[in-house]
Amino acid sequence: MTVPIWPITSDALNDLSIPGRSWCRITADFRRSIKTVNAAYSSQTCPDPTCGYVHSDNRHGDMFHCRNPYWDCNWQGDVDHVAAMNLLNRIKDHQINRFTPFGEVKKILEERFLRANGKPEYPIGYQG
Ligand SMILES: [Zn+2]
Repeated sequence: MTVPIWPITSDALNDLSIPGRSWCRITADFRRSIKTVNAAYSSQTCPDPTCGYVHSDNRHGDMFHCRNPYWDCNWQGDVDHVAAMNLLNRIKDHQINRFTPFGEVKKILEERFLRANGKPEYPIGYQG
């Protein structure tokens, strides 16, 4: 399916701008079909498909800088753009849906990062 980028990011970011909102609607096409996704950790997770490191230190205000402790990923960009990229991926995510609890989302993201990169666990002292 070809997905137009602009309607998705604008609707997603409008929803995310509401204080306390942990989910958002994504416009999947121009006919206004709506897909609701879970926004947990979308601005703290590295959008590089070969990385995916999630940590609160990745975000500094409006800027994202990946602090992956295993290798120098150093992915950098605007945090809203990062969130939009991650939200797009949540459309086809079969493990994380709108009702997945916040803590469970983090656990899933951490497990994916570790599994994909052959790491047994996060570094000692990791506090997310
Ligand atoms: Zn990264």
